[in-house]
Amino acid sequence: MLKKLFCLIITATLITTAFAQRPKFKVLALYTTTVESDHVDFAHDAIKYFTDLAVKRGFVFDTTTNWKNVNDDYLKNYQLIIWLNDFPQNAGQRAAFVKYMDNGGAWLGFHVAGYNDKYTKWPWFVSFLGSAVFYNNSWPPLPAKLVVDDGNHAVTRGIPANFIAPINEWYGWKPSPRLNKDIKVLVTLDPANYPLGKKDIIRDGDIPVVWTNTQYKMLYINMGHGDQIFTSDVQNKLFENAVMWLGRGR
Ligand code: ZN
Repeated sequence: MLKKLFCLIITATLITTAFAQRPKFKVLALYTTTVESDHVDFAHDAIKYFTDLAVKRGFVFDTTTNWKNVNDDYLKNYQLIIWLNDFPQNAGQRAAFVKYMDNGGAWLGFHVAGYNDKYTKWPWFVSFLGSAVFYNNSWPPLPAKLVVDDGNHAVTRGIPANFIAPINEWYGWKPSPRLNKDIKVLVTLDPANYPLGKKDIIRDGDIPVVWTNTQYKMLYINMGHGDQIFTSDVQNKLFENAVMWLGRGR
């Protein structure tokens, strides 16, 4: 009898442990090491940050520099795909990504991952991003004051209404994604920063820096240039919130 009870307790413990240790979701971060060195630095820092976060928050975090992995078979293993500093380069990879998103996958794009201009020729992606096309940038990289548009969203919860983001290259977009009815802007560049930059100067405009297209489980974050991005506890918390929100799926 006692032996049976002991066995039961052991079994229950094993089941509980297995449940507690089961990862909440799986994340795949894609990046490239041959792009602008500041963008490579960011990717390496991001991998370090998210690797630690994965242990702390109980998800799987895998990385690859092989964009050929952007195919149906590979992507189906993951609930969240992150583009750290690059984007798909050919029609096959683009099609696999569209299918992944249409089937309920989640995406997080940093900085240059959202870059698109007249040479990109990927209308689906422009629409996915909220019609935002790269317009201008600030240079050299500088810190900037950011305004949280909605502190009640899962991504911005616990983030103060204003904070100073570490040194980054800031992108402006035309049209502003805010004009798109499907877009919810979560964080915006404070106009008090203008003129922002020395060589390349952002002088005006409504410039969202974090937003989601509500038709998808996606988030774009403009931060992602250089080796200072993960030096702010406030901003790091926003990144953590972003991954936890996206990883839980639709
Ligand atoms: Zn950059």
